[in-house]
Amino acid sequence: MIAEVIVDISTSEIDRIFDYSIPEGMTLFAGDRVKVPFGRQKTEGFIVRIKENTDCSHELKPILSKLDDFTAVLPEMISLMWEMKEKNNLRLVDLLRLFVPAMMRGGRVREVKRHFVTLAEGVSEESALSLLKPNAVNQRAIVAEVGQSGEWAAILGEKYGFSAISALAEKGLVCVKDVTRRRVPHLKPVPDKKVELTAEQKKAVETIMRGEKSENLLFGVTGSGKTEIYLACIEEVVTQGKTAIMLVPEISLTPQMMGRFRARFGDKVAVLHSGLSDGERYDEWLRLLRGEAIIAVGARSAVFAPLKNVGIIIIDEEHDGSYISENNPRYVTHEVASFRRAYNDAKLVLGSATPSLETYQRAIGGEIGLIPLKSRVHNTKMPKVEIVDMCAEIRSGNNSILSSRLEEELGRALERKEQSMIFLNRRGFASFMICRKCGKVMKCDDCDVSLTWHKEDNLLKCHYCGKPYPVPEKCPACGESDMRLGRVGTEKVAEILKNKFTGVRILRMDRDTTRKKGSFDEILSAFRMGEADVLVGTQMIVKGHDFPNVTLVGILDADMSLYYEDYHSAERTFQLVTQMSGRAGRADKEGLVILQTYSPRHYVFAFARDNDYPAFYGKEINIREVTAFPPFTKIVRVLVVSENEERAFELTKSMLYKVREYQKESPKDFVAVSGMKSPVKRIEGKFRYQILMRLTRKNEDQTLKKIYEIVNAEDKKGAMVFVEINPQNMN
Ligand code: ADP
Ligand code: ZN
Repeated sequence: MIAEVIVDISTSEIDRIFDYSIPEGMTLFAGDRVKVPFGRQKTEGFIVRIKENTDCSHELKPILSKLDDFTAVLPEMISLMWEMKEKNNLRLVDLLRLFVPAMMRGGRVREVKRHFVTLAEGVSEESALSLLKPNAVNQRAIVAEVGQSGEWAAILGEKYGFSAISALAEKGLVCVKDVTRRRVPHLKPVPDKKVELTAEQKKAVETIMRGEKSENLLFGVTGSGKTEIYLACIEEVVTQGKTAIMLVPEISLTPQMMGRFRARFGDKVAVLHSGLSDGERYDEWLRLLRGEAIIAVGARSAVFAPLKNVGIIIIDEEHDGSYISENNPRYVTHEVASFRRAYNDAKLVLGSATPSLETYQRAIGGEIGLIPLKSRVHNTKMPKVEIVDMCAEIRSGNNSILSSRLEEELGRALERKEQSMIFLNRRGFASFMICRKCGKVMKCDDCDVSLTWHKEDNLLKCHYCGKPYPVPEKCPACGESDMRLGRVGTEKVAEILKNKFTGVRILRMDRDTTRKKGSFDEILSAFRMGEADVLVGTQMIVKGHDFPNVTLVGILDADMSLYYEDYHSAERTFQLVTQMSGRAGRADKEGLVILQTYSPRHYVFAFARDNDYPAFYGKEINIREVTAFPPFTKIVRVLVVSENEERAFELTKSMLYKVREYQKESPKDFVAVSGMKSPVKRIEGKFRYQILMRLTRKNEDQTLKKIYEIVNAEDKKGAMVFVEINPQNMN
């Protein structure tokens, strides 16, 4: 017998299939990983097909050995690989690598170690507790749980945050050891708050499981009980002997969220998130492959979970940008989910309060089902949204980033001992530094962007590559010493609040304060436990966190996302305002949202204030149609990146010429074609050029194929070329 093998080597010239002979007595299947001779070396490879005969004229080399005691790539995933190669023009080996944990490749499997936490030598539970402050709730809980027998770090981290473990280790109270262990231990049961579903929820479950459409949009505001619906559907699927995939944005994978799944399904759940070590990820993956776990919960990449007989796939917050992979290999989670749904004859649920225009269009057009949830479970009212005109604010002499209304309401909330959240999508202290005399803006040497001042460490930093720069005392261009700072960021807002309200307790959450593993969960749980009055943050604070004591939300500079040169900007702004509003007044208290903008009459804000997604959709879809933007067209960007500007330019020019030739042949397939420097001309020292196209939907598959042909035929030496479809980020 002959095996078709894709070797696990990463150069584009060898992304093809090689035939190998299967030695007598060796049983192999498609999807097995094997060791094969390749040139003068030995390498790993994936079998993608077993066959009787070869077209090769020379004698075949034999497969040396089978690498695992299981078949790593399911037949379904091999079909998916071919589909994605065709659709996304990706290399086979890159696709196969998506399907197996990194740990498996390169023979590192045997070293699987997990972190196990015990009390340090000579430390007793009592002595440890006596050394901890009463308010170190998470650390105390860990000590209690570790007690005599110890516990796995993965489990403790999920419940109490990983940083609490490291804090204890630093104090010498606990000891974290690497223990070789292949199985995830049985989890201690967490109480399951099983609820009786409302009539509306029951009907939704019914429609998802037995309705006419196998793909549905579950359209309901936060708090409308979507997660309970997911849990009920998964329960039913599991009873049928099938498996389930639950996808959430990475940022929403909080201990609370995972806890709800663990409570209901125990260790039938495998969680795939970025907090896992390579070894832990491998173990969870293997539990899924072996059928020991039958529910995969995780971020984007969990869509590739090695589950057989999938009964349901759920994409929560389906509009979230993180579902589109912007690193190689680039893929769209929805497309993969859709393929797996069809392959398994399963159900697909897309959940959101603010669906993407494309999904909503498909739903009201009847292509997929639409399940609206009309009310919040606890009948909490949606918060009142007040729009504040910041131009008027300036006219009346207030130049602060806080409007007088917001300041007033913040004071009231503090008096009432209720919590507030302030959102500003800009981290750091000030977004740029400019010379008052000559107007020079401080920029990164390697990236074409201005630098942000970070007061905490008094450095200018590039938000693209992270490179720090000392703050200049004088303008490097003209020598002027009067350097002015531009728009304020989260760090500055926190400082302003501290100065305005004496004694106010503030937590800040942005990429600077969450760099350490576990700090994200730590900030959220501290805020939930009332350790601060105000949480200031970037879009990290927007997603699905439930804080019952928050009654005031301030949105600063709501226009920021509006004036990005991007066709999504209105949609993004609507999602953001709606989601941010969803944070206010969730329990028995009514919430207030103060939205500060320089364009108070923009339709996005009016519709967001009235919580009227359908009206927003109606207006926005009209604009997209008139201006020929997605979902009425497809945007394709061919991005060319090179350290050599000349090379990037020449390559772009050559491909642009060929695209234009094709456009002449079939002008109806294109709405627009242009070639230019990318908006950010340079990142990390690499020049960026691009061809930007809008394709008509009718012939898009064929046009895209042609574009792939043009790109593939080009000699790309000294440059990298990426083809992006409807990119989220057009930098
Ligand atoms: P969503 O996912 O839409 O934000 P959740 O499912 O998280 O909504 O529900 C919001 C809150 O309401 C949760 O605390 C949940 O436990 C509770 N809840 C949901 N459904 C019910 C129900 N039928 N009865 C009682 N409480 C419910
Ligand atoms: Zn930079």
